[in-house]
Amino acid sequence: MDVQPSSRFTVTPSQKAVTANERATLLADPGFGRIFTDHMVTIRYTEGQGWHSPAVGAREPFMLDPACAVLHYAQEIFEGMKAYRLEDGSIAMFRPEENARRFAQSAERMAMPVVPEELFLEAVEQLVAIDADWILGGEGSLYLRPFMFASEAFLGVRPSNEYIFCVIASPAGAYFKGGKKAVTLWVSEHYTRAARGGTGTAKCGGNYAASLVAQKEAIGHGCDQVVFLDAAENKWVEELGGMNIFFVMEDGSIITPPLGTILPGITRNSILSLARARGHEVREELYSFAQWRADASSGKMREAFACGTAAVVTAIGTVKSVDGDFTIGNGDGGIVTEALRAELTGIQRGTVADPAGWVRTL
Ligand SMILES: *Cc1c(COP(=O)(O)O)cnc(C)c1O
Repeated sequence: MDVQPSSRFTVTPSQKAVTANERATLLADPGFGRIFTDHMVTIRYTEGQGWHSPAVGAREPFMLDPACAVLHYAQEIFEGMKAYRLEDGSIAMFRPEENARRFAQSAERMAMPVVPEELFLEAVEQLVAIDADWILGGEGSLYLRPFMFASEAFLGVRPSNEYIFCVIASPAGAYFKGGKKAVTLWVSEHYTRAARGGTGTAKCGGNYAASLVAQKEAIGHGCDQVVFLDAAENKWVEELGGMNIFFVMEDGSIITPPLGTILPGITRNSILSLARARGHEVREELYSFAQWRADASSGKMREAFACGTAAVVTAIGTVKSVDGDFTIGNGDGGIVTEALRAELTGIQRGTVADPAGWVRTL
């Protein structure tokens, strides 16, 4: 008995919601992923019954059995998306259907049940509606985190028979502490993120678990983020721990690693379209770390940037590795990066024309 899109969620407003004053204090310095709104959405899945009991209620802890499958075998996936407060006061989301679609693909890879696209979107919109007062305007936004995990108490190794789908929300300011300035990357020589046939294209917690030791190494070397090379040859640039990567060459062409083992970013896909529309020659092709170093050193590469929902578009200034460091351009971003960032954020915030119907107003 699957939940139909028209069916109603049980809505129980939180009894412990913060006051408007407390909320204003929290929103003054939100940081990223630190504070949360008053509510959450949950939908349960039971084998044989399908999705059921859709509810909007107070944000509160889950009670989990110690044998809960996700705690042992990490059957978990998530999404990251944002709601924006436009200048006219309305609320918009950016390509949310793409998140719904990718969530379904991640579920299939992890042998989990698919949340129908309409149900996913309705769940997200229910949360945005009840917690609308938490959506920051201007440069801010409300970061939405839909996720699903295996909730059956069972230690045998097979896909769980029970799941919880949940959506929580967190007001977001700037992602990197340094704001818009360029980041420094550490190239991981020992650790890889994803191999062919693995889970690199699924947005699952396990990929992040595997990336944290490399991220820790990056921080230890004074870098902001780690950049991973491919698992087979340890040669080709793949992506950051949670962002895709782009290179801007002196002839104006733009290169980004092809899909395969990387996460198919919605920001990546949007940048590809915008760059083509701006007249850049865009190539999705393998690009080696050795070539990156050579092109940055010779000046053939002018800019590099990382992109994803959380940080949008962020310039890459310096790259560090055990073989030494190199800087891209003047080490502080560049005009192509800035133009693409401005166009994308403008579309998301309704100040730049939306070329392809990407913005969904609620
Ligand atoms: C989420 C994510 C991205 C960026 O995807 P967007 O859809 O642009 O937010 C890139 N790489 C990894 C590993 C991710 O998990």
